[in-house]
Amino acid sequence: MRTAHKNDPCLYDLVVVGASFAGLVAARAAAHRGLRVAVMDAKREPGARVRTTGILVKEAVEECDIPASLTRKIPGVRLYAPNHVYTDLFAPGYYFLATDTPAIMRWLAREAQRAGADLLFGTRFEDATLADDMVRIHGADLKARYLLGADGAKSRVAQVFNLGRNTEFLIGMETEYEESPTVDPDFLHCFVDTDLAPGYLGWVVPGVGLTQAGLAVSHGPFGARRKPNFEAFMRRIDHRFALWNCEVKAKRSGPIPCGGLVSPLSTRRVLLTGDAAGLVSPLTAGGIRLAFQFGRRAGAAISEYLQDGGADPGVLMAREYPGFGLKTWMRRAWSAAPPNALLNATLFTPPMRALAQWIYFQKRGGGVTSATHDRIAKTPAT
Ligand SMILES: Cc1cc2nc3c(=O)[nH]c(=O)nc-3n(C[C@H](O)[C@H](O)[C@H](O)COP(=O)(O)OP(=O)(O)OC[C@H]3O[C@@H](n4cnc5c(N)ncnc54)[C@H](O)[C@@H]3O)c2cc1C
Repeated sequence: MRTAHKNDPCLYDLVVVGASFAGLVAARAAAHRGLRVAVMDAKREPGARVRTTGILVKEAVEECDIPASLTRKIPGVRLYAPNHVYTDLFAPGYYFLATDTPAIMRWLAREAQRAGADLLFGTRFEDATLADDMVRIHGADLKARYLLGADGAKSRVAQVFNLGRNTEFLIGMETEYEESPTVDPDFLHCFVDTDLAPGYLGWVVPGVGLTQAGLAVSHGPFGARRKPNFEAFMRRIDHRFALWNCEVKAKRSGPIPCGGLVSPLSTRRVLLTGDAAGLVSPLTAGGIRLAFQFGRRAGAAISEYLQDGGADPGVLMAREYPGFGLKTWMRRAWSAAPPNALLNATLFTPPMRALAQWIYFQKRGGGVTSATHDRIAKTPAT
C-alpha cells in the first residue's frame, strides 16, 4: 500500500534526485517496500550521457544481480610500470566485469519502474525548501516526505540544503573504440605513470563489444590543477594495442570524488548517497559497488523511517557508510606523484606487488599473495 496522499499526484513519499546507480537502486528498494517514489533526472532518458567506465568488482554483482548478458568477465589485472614492464595479478575465483553501461542503466530504470517508481527524465532539480516536514521541489512542482540526493559528484541537493560537498576529485577522461582483438580480454590493463596520470592510472579495458581507454589525474599538492592529457597517454601506450586503427565510438570525462565521505550527510528529511555522499573508494576510484550497496540501504532506511517510525535515515547511514580514513591518506600520498624512475625500480618488488594485490583484490580470494600468479615480462616488440 502506498503511503503518500492518493489524491495529490504531486505528492510522493520519496523523491530521488539522480537516476543512476545509487538513485535507481534506492528507488527500487523503497518502491518495493510500498513507498510512492519518483526519480528525477536531468538526462532525457536512461543510459544517456554515461560518464563512467562502468567496471564492476565482483561484489557489485553480489549487491545487485546484473544480467550476465550485459557484462564481460575479466579475471585479472595487468599492471604496467612506466618502463612498460608488467606483472599479472589474479585472485582465485575473483573477477571484474566490464559492462554495457547504457544497457545496465536502462535495465536499472526498468527495475525501478516495475517496482512502482515514477521516472521523471528531463527534469532537473534546481531548488527546494523544507516546511512542515514536507520537501517542496520548486520548478518540478513536486512534494516529498523525504528527499534523497543521488545526483553525483557535484550534488545540487547538497548545495541547496547546505550539506557536505565533495572537495577532492580525480578528473577522468575516456574514449570508447570499436572492439579490438589487440587487447588481451583476460585483463584490465592498468598503466602506472606519474607524468601522465599523476594520482591515479591509465587503463585499457576489453569492454562489452568495444574497447575503452582512459586515464584519470588528481589535483596536485595544495590543490594545483592538473588535466588529463589523453593524446599523450595514447602516444605512450598505443604501440601495444594500435587503437589508432579503430573507430572512435564515444568520449567522456568527469570528476570522481576521492576525498572520502562528505559531512554532514543529511539534514531533516534529506539524505545524500552515492557520489553525492563521497561514497567512492579513494584508492580504486570505484563507486558503483558502494552506490548499489548504500543506495539500497538508504532506500530501505527511508522506508522504515516513514512507514514504521524507524531510526532517522541520516543517523543510520552516518553509522553504516564506510569511513575511508587510511585509504584517503594513501590516495593523497599517491597524488604527490613519486617519480617514474622510482616506480620503475620498485613497483614489482615483493612489498609493492603485495600492495597492488591488496588494492585490486583486498580480502577477496584465498591467501592473497600466495594466490597471485605474477609474471614479469618485457614489452613485446611491436
Ligand atoms: C571517467 C570515469 C570512470 C569511472 N570508472 C568507474 C569504474 O570503472 N568503476 C566504478 O566502480 N566507478 C567508476 N567511476 C565512478 C562511478 O562512475 C561513480 O562512482 C558512480 O557513477 C556513482 O553513481 P551515482 O549514482 O552516485 O552518481 P552518478 O552516476 O554520477 O549519477 C548522478 C545522476 O544524477 C543526475 N543529476 C545530476 N545533477 C542533477 C540535477 N540537478 N537534477 C537532476 N538530475 C541530476 C545525473 O544526470 C546522473 O544521472 C568512474 C567515474 C568517472 C568519471
